[in-house]
Amino acid sequence: MKITRTGFFRLTGLATLAQAGRKLRAAAAPKRWAMVVDAQKCLRDRGCTKCLQACHRAHNVPQFRERNHQIAWIWKEPFERAFPSQRSAYTAETFKDKPVLVLCNHCDNPPCVRVCPTRATWKRADGLVMMDWHRCIGCRYCVAACPYGSRSFNWVDPRPRIAELNADFPTRTQGVVEKCTFCEERLARGQAPACVEACPDKALVFGNLADPASEVRKLLRGRYSIRRKPELGTQPQVFYIV
Ligand code: SF4
Repeated sequence: MKITRTGFFRLTGLATLAQAGRKLRAAAAPKRWAMVVDAQKCLRDRGCTKCLQACHRAHNVPQFRERNHQIAWIWKEPFERAFPSQRSAYTAETFKDKPVLVLCNHCDNPPCVRVCPTRATWKRADGLVMMDWHRCIGCRYCVAACPYGSRSFNWVDPRPRIAELNADFPTRTQGVVEKCTFCEERLARGQAPACVEACPDKALVFGNLADPASEVRKLLRGRYSIRRKPELGTQPQVFYIV
C-alpha cells in the first residue's frame, strides 16, 4: 500500500493524539495511594530516625517526655508487636525484637472513620484517611477503634512543645486527636511524603496502587509483602516487604 506524504502526517498525528489521550486518561484515573516499607533496608541502620524527624518537623508534632502525653505520626515498634500474627518461636533473627517503622495504615476499611460522631475523620476517594481538627470534639472513639494505635490525643496544649514551628502547617489544640495524613498537603503540590523523601536508603516507597506501572505495584509484584493484623479486615494500605 502506498502512503502519500499527507497520509503519513495524518497517521502520525492520529498516533500522537491517541498517545496524548492515553496519558490524559491515566492522569485523570482515580488514584489509590499506598506505601511500601522495605523492612530489611529500614533495619540496616537501626539508629536512623530521619523519617520520623522529617515528618514531625513538617507537621508541628510536639515533643513530650511524659509517655502518656506523647504524640506520634510515625514511630518504631518491635516487629513482633507490630505483627503479632507473625510471632513464633522461630521468627527470623533479622526481625526478632527489631524495630519496624509504623504509621497510620490508611486502611481501606477504616474502623476509626465508622465510629466518629462528627465526621471529623473520613476516607477520601484516593484512600487517604483524613482529619479535620476543627470538627474533632475529642471523644476519642477513633483512638479506641484503631487497632494499630495510630492515633494520638492531645491531653494538653501541644503548641509550647513544638521544637521548631513550621508556619506553613497548622498546629493543633488541647482536646483533639491527630495522626499521619500521608502528607496530603505535599501530595497536592506533587511532592512525596516527607518521610519518604527523608529516607537515605529509599526504604520507603510511595505511589499509586491503581497504576500497574507505579513503583509500589512493581515492588509488590516482585517481592513478598505482609500487612499489619490482616485478620481484622481493615485492609491496610501500608505494605511491608520482608
Ligand atoms: Fe484508622 Fe488506625 Fe486504619 Fe489509620 S491505621 S486508617 S487510624 S484504623
